[in-house]
Amino acid sequence: MDRCDVLIVGAGPAGSSCARFLAQSSLDVVVMDRSAFPRDKVCAGWITPQVVATLGLDLEDYARRAVLQEVAAFRCGLMGELPRTIRYGTTVSYAIRRREFDQILLERSGARLRLSETLDSAVRCDHGWIVNGALQTRLLVGAGGHFCPVARLLGSQVGRAEGAVYAQEAEFPLTAEQAVACGTRGDTPELYFCQDLSGYGWCVRKGDYLNIGLGREDPSHLVGQLQDFWRWLQAAGRVPGIDTPHFKGHAYLQRRHAHRTIVTDNALLIGDSAGLAYDESGEGIRPAVESALLAAETIRAAEGDYRVARLAPYAIALDRRLGCAAAGSRTGSPTRRAVAKWLMRNRAFARHVLLDHFFLHRHQPPLRPLLRPSG
Ligand SMILES: Cc1cc2nc3c(=O)[nH]c(=O)nc-3n(C[C@H](O)[C@H](O)[C@H](O)COP(=O)(O)OP(=O)(O)OC[C@H]3O[C@@H](n4cnc5c(N)ncnc54)[C@H](O)[C@@H]3O)c2cc1C
Repeated sequence: MDRCDVLIVGAGPAGSSCARFLAQSSLDVVVMDRSAFPRDKVCAGWITPQVVATLGLDLEDYARRAVLQEVAAFRCGLMGELPRTIRYGTTVSYAIRRREFDQILLERSGARLRLSETLDSAVRCDHGWIVNGALQTRLLVGAGGHFCPVARLLGSQVGRAEGAVYAQEAEFPLTAEQAVACGTRGDTPELYFCQDLSGYGWCVRKGDYLNIGLGREDPSHLVGQLQDFWRWLQAAGRVPGIDTPHFKGHAYLQRRHAHRTIVTDNALLIGDSAGLAYDESGEGIRPAVESALLAAETIRAAEGDYRVARLAPYAIALDRRLGCAAAGSRTGSPTRRAVAKWLMRNRAFARHVLLDHFFLHRHQPPLRPLLRPSG
């Protein structure tokens, strides 16, 4: 039987970041993922400078190895209406390819890796858990995304009785001719909100890749809205000469809809597994990385005692940082929706509230590790 102190299930941004933040402790950390890496991940792949700061990413080094698209403006508006361009004149965000980003974070994690291995079973034992009948761990960290098996173990009705956001997305390379003809600029991602404000579509260019998708709180209209969105992008010259791509789907929980138990004896959840994506934008990478950091700091402080009372400070720190879960619904009454649409057509609102506050979280400085991992 293999043994470790901490088993992290899931090698996305949450799991690999948690491993890295634990790397300077004396803990033996294993990261398990059902996929072989690098692997694709359904995501627009847009990150903020605060994520870069918390991770301590060397952007020059990153750009030598992978696509890193600096973002200095946004084109945004309501679907079917003339969008406006909001320019910042400086880099306010980055677009990355998740296949590359997740691989690079995993390489820096410093953990022992068990890739291409699915968590099939976890049985409690005297000092923690026995996983897949082959690995004994004192602490189980659930970082397996929305359908995380550890969240199920902790009693969540994963995929049922939860108000998730449903999204479809495609990322594909442009040919040389398409790259020239494409109306979408790399430094200006495009965001288009559904007329009922129940979701939004995006068109993000990263070098010679294009990423297009749409997410909604209401899955029954997702496919129809996506088809309308694609036709509208074609008519607007954003996707010239490009056949309809194969869109892949995924779901995630926004913080306000998350009711998952995130801490119990010898187990805790981080990232999408805990349901942490920001309510307004659906950005989940920053909450995934920040929850990983807060969890790692609690794990270190627990000094090997992983009873719920010693892990509870993580849940408290998360509430302080991200706000309490289950805070209500966004779209509200028809009157509120009408006011919101009117506001979205206002340039100052679009810049200072929608983009600065809801999408870029510029008011919130990055979370910094108490101990910076080396290397
Ligand atoms: C269409 C779409 C667009 C998005 N765009 C953005 C964006 O632009 N910016 C942003 O910040 N956020 C975005 N998000 C949200 C973001 O993708 C997630 O919040 C983020 O990936 C969460 O990271 P994570 O590490 O918690 O989980 P994940 O990245 O989902 O990683 C979970 C890992 O767990 C593994 N796993 C799952 N089950 C098992 C198992 N049984 N055994 C072993 N391993 C398992 C999976 O293989 C996976 O590698 C988007 C989401 C969607 C759906």
